[in-house]
Formats: sequence, structure tokens, C-alpha cells
Amino acid sequence: MSASPALILPEKTRSIGNDLRRVLGPDKVRDDFPTITAYSVDASIYKVVPKAVVTAETEDDIAATVAYAVSTGVPITPRAAGTNLTGSAVGEGIILDCGRMTRILELNVAERRARVQPGLHLTEFNKKLEPHGLMFGPDPSSRDMCKLGGMLANNSAGPHTLRYGSVKDNVHAIRLHLTTGAWLAAEVLADGDPASSALLAAHPPLAETLALVRQHAALIRSRKPKVSKNSTGYNLFGLVDGLDQGIVDLPKLFVGSEGTLGVISEATLTLVEKPRATATALIHFRHLEDVGQAVFDLLPLTPMALEIMDANTLNLIGRAAHGVPADAAATLLAEFDGDPSAVGTDLKSVPLHAILDRVKAICRKYRLCQDPTIAVEKEHQEQLWKARNALYPTLYRYDARKKPINYVDDVVVPADRIAELVQYLSTFFKHQDVNVAIFGHIGNGNAHIVPLLDVSDQHDFKAMVEGYHEIHQTVVTRFGGSICGEHGDGRVRAEFVPKYFGEELYALFKQVKAAFDPGRVLNPGVKISTTPFTEHIDYVRLSKPCATCGKCNSVCPVYDVFQSEDMSSRGWFEIVTAPGYEYLNSKRVVEACVNCKSCRTICPAGVDVSDLILQRRAEHPNKLAGAIFAWQGRPWLFEPFIKLMGRTQTLWDRPLPRKIMQRALSPLLRLLAKTAKLPADMVLPRLAPRLLRERYTDLTEERGHHGPVAYFHGCAANYFQDGVGDAVIAVLRKNGIEPVLPRQKCSGTPIETYGHMDRVKAYARFNVESLNRYETIVTGCASCTLALKDSPKWFQGEERRKAEAVAAKVKHISEVLMGTDLLLGTDSKSVPKKTVTYHSSCHLRAAGVTKPPRDLLKRLPGVTYVEMRDADRCAGGAGTFIVKDYDTSQKIFDRKRAAIKDSGAQVVATSCPACMIQLKNGMRGEVEVRHIAELVNEAYEKK
Ligand SMILES: Cc1cc2nc3c(=O)[nH]c(=O)nc-3n(C[C@H](O)[C@H](O)[C@H](O)COP(=O)(O)OP(=O)(O)OC[C@H]3O[C@@H](n4cnc5c(N)ncnc54)[C@H](O)[C@@H]3O)c2cc1C
Ligand code: SF4
Ligand code: SF4
Repeated sequence: MSASPALILPEKTRSIGNDLRRVLGPDKVRDDFPTITAYSVDASIYKVVPKAVVTAETEDDIAATVAYAVSTGVPITPRAAGTNLTGSAVGEGIILDCGRMTRILELNVAERRARVQPGLHLTEFNKKLEPHGLMFGPDPSSRDMCKLGGMLANNSAGPHTLRYGSVKDNVHAIRLHLTTGAWLAAEVLADGDPASSALLAAHPPLAETLALVRQHAALIRSRKPKVSKNSTGYNLFGLVDGLDQGIVDLPKLFVGSEGTLGVISEATLTLVEKPRATATALIHFRHLEDVGQAVFDLLPLTPMALEIMDANTLNLIGRAAHGVPADAAATLLAEFDGDPSAVGTDLKSVPLHAILDRVKAICRKYRLCQDPTIAVEKEHQEQLWKARNALYPTLYRYDARKKPINYVDDVVVPADRIAELVQYLSTFFKHQDVNVAIFGHIGNGNAHIVPLLDVSDQHDFKAMVEGYHEIHQTVVTRFGGSICGEHGDGRVRAEFVPKYFGEELYALFKQVKAAFDPGRVLNPGVKISTTPFTEHIDYVRLSKPCATCGKCNSVCPVYDVFQSEDMSSRGWFEIVTAPGYEYLNSKRVVEACVNCKSCRTICPAGVDVSDLILQRRAEHPNKLAGAIFAWQGRPWLFEPFIKLMGRTQTLWDRPLPRKIMQRALSPLLRLLAKTAKLPADMVLPRLAPRLLRERYTDLTEERGHHGPVAYFHGCAANYFQDGVGDAVIAVLRKNGIEPVLPRQKCSGTPIETYGHMDRVKAYARFNVESLNRYETIVTGCASCTLALKDSPKWFQGEERRKAEAVAAKVKHISEVLMGTDLLLGTDSKSVPKKTVTYHSSCHLRAAGVTKPPRDLLKRLPGVTYVEMRDADRCAGGAGTFIVKDYDTSQKIFDRKRAAIKDSGAQVVATSCPACMIQLKNGMRGEVEVRHIAELVNEAYEKK
């Protein structure tokens, strides 16, 4: 068995990208600055810059990349979503991103099995399973962002592991590519069966491993972790257990192998029935020592999840914000399922409410701060879990210098000793004078320990190294636990793996690694490595506000389309804050953001990636856009043009003139972006022959109309005759409000996206001055709402205070109407019945307005409201983005179109005239597209 060192010769490193492009084509291989920068991080504390990135789309791409790596000795690191906390998805050679392999290849509902590709997001997978009443059991708290390939390679687990086990317990088969050049179908075979003998004969590394396992079975058995979950080392224990039962359980070997033995291209997963009803209890304990006994009492009720947060964690994330009492020493989240209709008495058929009664009775035995909060509504439960799932990145908000550092983050002890572990850790960190958050899956005895440190400070660095060795050692010797329950070894725990298992077993691990990867090209530095855990720590990044958790990627519409880190929110943060960043070396990606603000809305650490990108664009404002905005800034020149186009639209908005227009405009639009176009078949909004302000001239400020309520109509409602402005005015009037149309300028969103900040600021100043005198400022456009609410960001001192006062008075029309006593028509036979769904515009979500539009729709007579899947995802129109990059904008819309269709709605409502353009263009009359104000107005008319 050879073990040649992984040597990357300089002449080879320079040509890696070129070599791979020759094999795989130009689109799947990148090695430019933004790509290698984006891929140099995952959610760990490390940074390793790769030489090139391959985005594999087929098994052939995987095979070709592995063959290249083996023949050249260039290391290869498989990657899925890059959300691991251990540095296992970064590497110095080639990153092999399998994230574009996102298909469900087979779904067998009867047998509860699915054959899937490694790039499929867990959440997307579960969405597809939901209609069949099924789901995949293991669910890491990173479920929104992680992918199945990473979950398999990490043997991930999560809150529901208590019920369903970790990934290794839910895998039927895996297909993976080996460095021998062969594809291996790793499944469970009968020991001695001809099929298993043939497989071993065909794959010498497998035969060698099996022989080692048989030979050293006693040693393996004796070193098997005695806790409920383990993801450290190679799972030779699973193989021995299998052999003891007469089976060769091959998936057990590869699940949790962290890309060090082969590259996974497929897996057949076992599915579970989705619970029909669940409830979550939030229990606040006054004394930590009570928690252990309470868990012991609750476990017989077979909870699906039991999660703990210690007092310090609650302090760090802010008790008040989460409604946690000041005297809570620990909080327990307990989730139960049950049959809502059952009447039986055994636990499997006990109605959920009876289980909850038992929970309450158990809780009465303990010294709680208050009665437990029980949530049965999905929304309420999600609220309770939201804080828990985003704990780690939320800790990034706490201190600009001290960051949550994962180096002892995943220990496991027997579940009944977790309170004792928390006590030990509290004392340990107190002694070190280090703030620490301790939370985790208490039902499994799995604690996540996240100290807050400034690792560039000597004291803190020393505390980290000391803690690493001392805590791991104590967990192993005093508690009989494991150093890793679910996050994997990666770069962080590799150093401790030999200490945990002992040199003898570790030698076996090394032999297994050498059998499968003699050239050490598969993810070197990970799992089987003696490199100290302090190597590759990214001190620069740890001083930045982003936790690199990847949560923003899960909502970034551009990432959704491209599935590559260089085209993602997290990647863009990394790129635009990297030392070597220049607009010109990263223009491709800096211009790709649609400015939907979804990243900012979701980021638990409070980072606004979109704003950073806009700041970078402002260093190179787009000249054509600047000229257009300057023209628009002269209404006496711009408005006659709009009106002329509106009056003649029936003449030019036809196939032939539009084709001519598309050609004629093409060279000009290329000055906006290489990708810009106005396709002949794009459905355009109806331009206004008479602008809104002209149609309602008696309401304008210029005509002397005055009152307490202003309607900030913005550009779209003024220039387009799409019914929005008329409807907003009509519904306000029906509520006895004669709105004033105040003097106003563009709220600035489109101008900001092209980098013309001076103009945005001047307009913001104008609008603040103009709107200052009103009591309420009503909007009908999502982007105007957000821009006005955000306007304080442009100012300092007195001006800022004035802008804040204006921002506080801004209300979207849906909020205004929900605050009134709507005297709508009744749900009589005269009202046509329709099913309505809602597309929640990104900027309105960013402005915090999500519930009023939905509540309003639910109140309308004749309307059956259905919530569509992905309602809160960007539709891709994004103001002028639809013109700037029409093709990407349509790819973004594909998801929305499918969701609208699947909802079965006849009408899709939205709160933004800009979104209406994309919805009308995308749906092409398949469903009606209406602004929420139009639907409300119609309900009045039906009265
Ligand atoms: C906020 C937060 C919460 C988390 N909570 C949990 C939790 O509750 N439980 C938990 O287990 N983890 C958790 N994690 C860690 C991580 O998200 C999970 O382990 C996740 O399953 C990793 O998936 P990924 O797609 O991001 O994989 P990646 O990070 O991309 O990769 C992980 C490993 O898989 C390997 N790999 C990826 N694809 C392949 C492939 N095709 N073939 C072979 N190897 C491959 C990589 O080389 C790497 O070693 C959390 C992370 C964060 C940021
Ligand atoms: S910007 Fe926020 S959500 Fe995105 S990776 Fe950073 S911390 Fe996570
Ligand atoms: S604004 Fe939207 S497109 Fe831009 S980074 Fe954020 S989520 Fe992605």
C-alpha cells in the first residue's frame, strides 16, 4: 500500500483551471478571484484558498475531476452547501462542488424510499415529500441551507435525531466514485453472499477494509463510543455490528467519511411518515440541576425533540427579545407528536392534548419560572424554534470583537449526565474568564459549546487551545462521552481523533484511508490528519460581522438559480470584503445581485450583504442608468415621453414593432449590462396616457389639497396605468380619507442599484422634507415602503432624526386597511368566489410587513385564501433587474410559477406594482395578477 505525499508542483497549480477546462468545458470550471475567494470559506473558523472550482452536473464530471486529481496529485475537496462547522469543505486544490446535482431520481412512496442526488437541499427535499405525507428524519438546525451530500458525508443529525436517529440510520444505499476510477454501489449485503463476494472482488479497497475489520473486530468493539450518537472517526463499529448480524453494511462505512474515501453521486434514503400533529413546549427552569431529572421524566412520552439552552446562551441572545424570564437558569424546548383524532390510551394513539396534559403535570414537579408555553399552531411553533435554530450565527451580534468559536462544539455524554456536564463547563469557562453559550440536543446528551473569543488576542487564543484539550479529554475520561455527535471531525477535531480512539484503532483508520485513497488526494487535512487544529484559522474573517453560516444563501434567488458559492449572498460578502477585492476583478458577481434584500431579512447576525454590494457598485456607477435617471429627474422632459408612449402603446406594443425595438435597443442596453435586453415577447406594463397625478390633480399638493394622510405613490403607480394608484386612492376614500398626493421624487431603489448614491440621497432629502408634515404616509409599493423606512441611513444628526420621524409614519396600504373597520361587501351569492394566493414582495418583507396583506385577503368576501409554497421568495423581477438580466430573472421566476400553479389559485395577489410586472409576464394570463388594493376595492364595489 503506497502513501505518497500530496505534492502540488508549482507548474501544475498554475494550470489546474486550464487543464480542467479542457476536460470539462469552460462553464463548469472557474478559478477567477471571486470564485476562489467565495469557496475559500465554509461555516467554520478556517480559510483555505483553492486553486480551482468544478461545479459538477453529472457523474462524468465527478469521474473526470477525480481522475485528474489522482493523475496529478492535486487534492480534491467535495462540497455541497459548505455549512459544516469544521473546515471540511475547504481545501487547497480543487473544490468539487456537487451542489448542482439536485434531482430526486426516484421516489417510492409505498416503500418509503427515495434515490437522490447530493446537491438537493434538505428543505427542498422535504417540500417534495410533504404531499406524500413523508419526510427525511434527520434534520440539522441548518436544514434550510444544508444539502444531502454534506449531510451524508458528515453523518448529520439534529433535534429530531432523538426520534429518527442520524443520517447513518436512514440510508439504504450510496453510490460513490473511488480513486480507483470505479463506481461503487454501497448497499447492505448478506455476508458471504455471491453478490457481496463479487463486490469485494471488484473493489480491492473494500476487500482490504473488510479484511481489516474482521481481523480487528475485538479491538473495534472495545473502542466503540458508548453514547447515543457519534460522528468521529470512521464508522468501523457499524461494519462490525453488521458482520455480527451476518450483513455487510457498506453505507455505514461511507456515511460520515467527510469526502475522504470517495465522492458521493447518489444515495437511496429511507423516509419516515410526517407527523400529523405536533406541539412544542417551552419550559423555563429556575434551577439547572432540575433539568436532568425533567428530561428523564419526559423521555417516556417519546418526544420528537428535546433541546436545551443554558442561562448564558439566553443572556447572549437576549432574554427579553425571546420572552425568556430573567430568572431562567435553563430553557428546554420539547416537541411532541400525536394523533389529533385518536382516543386510545397507549402512547402511540394518545391524542396530542392528552400528551400535553402529561407534560404539564410533569412540569408541576419542578421549580419553573412560569407555566410552560405550549404552541400548537405551526406559526407559533416555528417562532419558538427559530431562535434555537439560528443560535450560533445570532451570537455573532453580541460583540464586535469576541466571536462564537467552534472548537469544542459537539461533545456527547450520556443524556442523564448533561446537567452535570453543563455545571462542569460553566465552572471551567468561569475560571478562564470566557463567556460561553451551551445549547444542544439534550435528549441525546449532545451539547454544543460555543465560547466567545477574540482569537487574535493571546489570552483568548491560549484559552482556546487549553479548552480544546482539557474539555475533550474530560468528556472522554470523566463522562465516557464522544468528542463529536454530528458535526464531523473536519480540520478541527482531526488532531484529537487519535487521542480519543487510541493509537491502535487510529492506525486502522489510517489503513482504511490508505486503501481507498493511496495518493491522499481526497480531502487531505480532514478527519485523518495530524495538522494542529489552529492551522488555517482565518483571523481576518473572525473580525468581520458575518458568521459564514450560509443562511442567506438559502433565500438568495441568484444562488437558487446558479447553485454556486460565487453567485451567492454569503460568497458575495466574502468577495467584497476580501483584501484583494476590486470592482473590476469581481464585476461579474457584484452586478449579479438583484437587491431583493432577502439576505438582510433572514441574517441572524444582522449583516446586510445587499447594502455592501450597493456600496461597491457606487464605486463604478453605471453611466447609461445615470443618464436615464437624470432624464427622469426632469419631469417636464420625461413625463411627456411616458404619456406619448402610453397613448401609442397599442400601435408599438405588437410583435413586429417590438422585434424592431428589441434589435434597436440592444446596443444601448448593453451599456447597462452585457445581459440586458427587452425581449419582444416580454409583457410590458400599460404605460399611462395620463399620469396618476394628472388623473387626480385635485388631490395634489400643488393644487393646495391638504390633510393628515399622504399617499406616496412612487414612480410605478404614476407612470403605469395598472390600476394600483387608482385602487389605493379609492379604498382610502371609502374609508373616509382624502389622501394628499404630496410632492415627491423617486424613492431611490432603482437608482441605488446602479450606484448613483448622490441622487438617491438628494431625493431622500427632498422626500423627508416633503413628507415631514403628514401624520400618516401611505404607500402601495413594496420598494417605496422600504426605501422610505430606510431613509435615515443617508443622514446624520438633526436630519437623521427628521428622517426617522418620517420613517415611523410610513405604512403600506395593507397595514392601513387592517387598522380600519372595513365595511366590505358580504359573502353573498352575488360575490363571485375565487381562490387567491399571495406573493409576498421581498422589500415589503424586509420592511417587516408580512401578516397584514395575508390577513386582509382572508377577510375579503368571496375569497378563499391559500398560502402558496415559496410565497416569501423573490419572484425575480426586482425593479429593473428584469431588463438588466432577463434570462436570470426568468429562471428565478420558474420556482414562483410552479408554486402559484401548485397552489391552485385563480388569482395571485401582491403588494407591489413592480412585482406585478414580473408576475404578469411570467404567468401570461394563466392566473389573474392583482394588487391587494385592487382586490379590496372590488370587494367594496360588490357591496
Ligand atoms: C447554524 C448552523 C447550525 C447547524 N446545525 C447542525 C445540526 O443541528 N446538526 C448537524 O449535524 N450539523 C449542523 N450544522 C453543520 C452542517 O450544517 C451540517 O453538518 C450539514 O449537514 C453539512 O451539509 P453541507 O451541505 O453544508 O455540507 P458541506 O459543508 O458542503 O460538506 C460537509 C462534508 O461533506 C463532504 N461532502 C459534501 N458533498 C460530498 C459528496 N458529494 N461526496 C463526498 N463528500 C461530500 C465535504 O467534503 C465535507 O467533508 C450546522 C451548521 C450551521 C452553520
Ligand atoms: S450574511 Fe448573515 S446569513 Fe449570510 S452567511 Fe453571513 S451571518 Fe450567515
Ligand atoms: S439582495 Fe437578494 S440577490 Fe442580493 S445577495 Fe441578498 S438575497 Fe442575494
